[in-house]
Amino acid sequence: MTETLPAALESVIDPISGKGLMASGRAAAPRFDDGTASVVLDVTGLSGDARAKLETAVKQALIAVPGVEAVRVAMTAEKRGRKIIAVGSGKGGVGKSTVSANLAVALRRMGIKAGLVDADIYGPSQSKLLSTEGMRPTAQGEKMDPVMSPYGVPMLSMGQLVKPGQAIAWRGPMTANALGQLIDAEWGDTDLLILDLPPGTGDIQLTMVQKYKPVGAIIVSTPQDLSLIDAARAVSFFNQANVPIVGMIENMAGYACPHCGEVSDPFGHGGAQAAAMTMELGFLGRIPLDADIRSKSDAGTPPAAEDGEQLFATLAAKLVDWLNPVRSPAFS
Ligand code: ADP
Repeated sequence: MTETLPAALESVIDPISGKGLMASGRAAAPRFDDGTASVVLDVTGLSGDARAKLETAVKQALIAVPGVEAVRVAMTAEKRGRKIIAVGSGKGGVGKSTVSANLAVALRRMGIKAGLVDADIYGPSQSKLLSTEGMRPTAQGEKMDPVMSPYGVPMLSMGQLVKPGQAIAWRGPMTANALGQLIDAEWGDTDLLILDLPPGTGDIQLTMVQKYKPVGAIIVSTPQDLSLIDAARAVSFFNQANVPIVGMIENMAGYACPHCGEVSDPFGHGGAQAAAMTMELGFLGRIPLDADIRSKSDAGTPPAAEDGEQLFATLAAKLVDWLNPVRSPAFS
């Protein structure tokens, strides 16, 4: 029994590392007592759905071992400090920054203490989106104090580290250091940081992700095929960096004509959702191409801040569901 139980456990594959559960460090050696096999799983970084699947797989594997009459699975999750959710895209211009800003505002409106880090070195735009243009972060000793937006979302941006209008042409180590200053700032009681990554899947993004270990990543894509190819690249990038993917958001999906109200699909329809299904990813939702979103974003008044707003509120609620932590080890 002491030999067959670990082998059975090892036959179950960890969804993130692709290794057996013990090899990946997810599970300690199972115990066996009076017909009952017990195992403790560390489910840190896994979504609720992935945890449930893993639990079922472990129970099936262990109950199949001759002599085992019952299986008990306990799940624990590492208590982490502030969590980071990365928002990425395979390419620029798909609305990644717009989604990040509105998601952070919607989370605040739900009562989640969310802050925003704009790491987009190619085009930091969060100061405009969150109406903090011209505000410079102050420093407390070594640490920066985030700037408070009118929407209750504290934020810091790569754009605040250079003079306005100055192009940022940093290399990997410099961007990682600069990002470190933003992430390790005085965030106070902020529980969750939305990290607006630079578009693409190059070395700079990889350094950022590896160093700051987001608990999850959201991928923004438009329904265009090309964008989806890039989104697929983003998926494999996060897989490679061992960052679980919360899901994909399809942006600019369907256009409602402001004059006649007819809905057309200039970039196709449902492509990102279909791709998410093919890649076995979560699909968080669809945001229409809406002139209102663009003009409000330009004006620094995010639609998510409006009373009764539903679209971003729903996306934020899905993220919270995904994050919902395992509170304490409990045998099931
Ligand atoms: P990214 O961060 O991916 O480069 P942005 O968030 O800066 O993209 O968006 C690019 C442009 O598209 C901005 O002008 C923004 O206002 C606009 N935009 C983003 N999403 C939408 C949308 N759903 N409807 C209309 N315009 C949008």
